[in-house]
Amino acid sequence: MQLIEKTDDLRHELAALRSKERIALIATMGCLHDGHISLIRKAKRLADVVVVSIYVNPLQFSAEEDLDRYLRPFAEDTRRCEAEGVDLLFHPESLFATPEPMVTLHVQTLGECLCGRFRPGHFDGMLTVVNALFNIVEPDLAIFGEKDWQQLSIVRRMVYDLNMPVAIASAPIMREENGLAMSSRNQYLTVAERKRATCLFQALTVMRKACLAGETNCVPLLAMATTVLRNEGLDAEYLEIRNSNTLKPISTIEADAHAFIAVRINNTRLIDNMALTKTLQKGE
Ligand code: AMP
Repeated sequence: MQLIEKTDDLRHELAALRSKERIALIATMGCLHDGHISLIRKAKRLADVVVVSIYVNPLQFSAEEDLDRYLRPFAEDTRRCEAEGVDLLFHPESLFATPEPMVTLHVQTLGECLCGRFRPGHFDGMLTVVNALFNIVEPDLAIFGEKDWQQLSIVRRMVYDLNMPVAIASAPIMREENGLAMSSRNQYLTVAERKRATCLFQALTVMRKACLAGETNCVPLLAMATTVLRNEGLDAEYLEIRNSNTLKPISTIEADAHAFIAVRINNTRLIDNMALTKTLQKGE
């Protein structure tokens, strides 16, 4: 594995490979866990050259968010990438010539709901960086996790709207045994908080089970999930059922009904999501 810190060096390495090899990109903010590793393994199956980027993107954090405390265990991340057979690990100090790029991307409706409502500017910052990475790496394929469903939807839409020559693939949510979706931010949680945090998965599962048993009205479904959270003394930042493709809100269950949840446990914000009309696949 080659560790590369400069954009020009990465371009140079990839130029030699581009004509013969299929290149996959996995964009991460580091602090790698098995969720990230599942994306790397999928990339290894689908491409010849796997590029992982580790860049804690300041553009997607607002002033009061956790940019400074975001964990950066770079030596351990490097070791994991090496063990997984990553070809190029890209770890730039900055992706931009100036600290604040003057030209950025903006997503409209898809970026205004769910996390976008509570993290203004987050998806614009994410898109600006993903676009910069696509321009540098020019991957044939990029893989994103379904854990960040709204991010995945917005990236797909960027590629569609702006005619970007890259295929977007997704990988299912990797969870702990108790259902907690793996996340770099889980490391902020105490043991007791981690246990409480499983209620996100339980709230989603309660809705999925009721849907599979025939409930089609979203009001009682959301009420059931709210009760699961309240039993842990938690209120959702958002708890919503939407169409999985359009992210439009729905009131009656349809084929692509999908539930989304965000909860704060002390200072840690956790998100999760689940398809309501499909049984879970192994590993989800
Ligand atoms: P992050 O480092 O949090 O920006 O995430 C980098 C990529 O890993 C994104 O595409 C995430 O959706 C994906 N990812 C994060 N957690 C998980 C998980 N538990 N399962 C699957 N993919 C994940």
